[in-house]
Amino acid sequence: MPSRPPIALTIAGSDSGGGAGIQADTKTMSAHGVFAASVLTAITAQNTTAVTAVQEVPADVVAAQIHAVLSDLDVRAIKLGMLSSAAIIEATADGLAGFAGPIVVDPVMIAKTGHALLHDSAVDAMTRRILPLATLLTPNLPEAARLVGDASAISPDEMADQAMRLLALGPRAVLMKGGHASGPTCTDVLVDASGVVATLRAPRLATRNTHGTGCTYSAAIAAQLALGENLPDAVTAAHHYLQGAIAAADRLNIGAGHGPVHH
Ligand code: PLP
Repeated sequence: MPSRPPIALTIAGSDSGGGAGIQADTKTMSAHGVFAASVLTAITAQNTTAVTAVQEVPADVVAAQIHAVLSDLDVRAIKLGMLSSAAIIEATADGLAGFAGPIVVDPVMIAKTGHALLHDSAVDAMTRRILPLATLLTPNLPEAARLVGDASAISPDEMADQAMRLLALGPRAVLMKGGHASGPTCTDVLVDASGVVATLRAPRLATRNTHGTGCTYSAAIAAQLALGENLPDAVTAAHHYLQGAIAAADRLNIGAGHGPVHH
């Protein structure tokens, strides 16, 4: 019997090293039994130590990919990752105008190895065009600070307040990811208009193989939404999946730098 798995779409950048971006997203979606379609926004020359080059896909080709997928495939949920430029952001927002399903927005800005994945000049376009489309926004602490215009990342105590400020920019819910704070516990906070919906805690695991964690998290949430879960359950299940992927990361020995997590 032919099967019809639920379909999720990732709109993101390629990581030639296979640990983050489109590659992490499609592996994560596949691991959830969800069929992954992918729209490429940029090609990064990248490994576990550095991003050495970035070539953006022309905005009209991003638009054509989105149209090709959405006009044929029954996409149940979308994840947005690296969008790189204001032109790609505009094309993406225009292309998603008629999409009624959930959209998870990972506001990717800087790779762990330090390379910018979003032009400074594109942050305004992200705020204006992408945040209002988001069913869920998943910033880490530096990304959240940048989006609300704070000078630096906040302490975990202030996460719920900053998430409420982000909500005012248009997303229906915000998952603040506290992994960039220090301390033995990583705390994430899920907030919607009703206030704090969930607080997720996990021990900080002693591995350097954390490349692609943010991509994996948002892709797992999109996969759970494609499977029909509600948002709090999707986030909780994705958090669990990510902890397993980080806990198993050292079973992989790939590259000399921050290696990928294990799917
Ligand atoms: N490269 C691409 C193409 C990405 O989309 C991302 C996502 O955040 C990264 C790199 C960053 O990976 P990390 O910061 O987890 O190393």
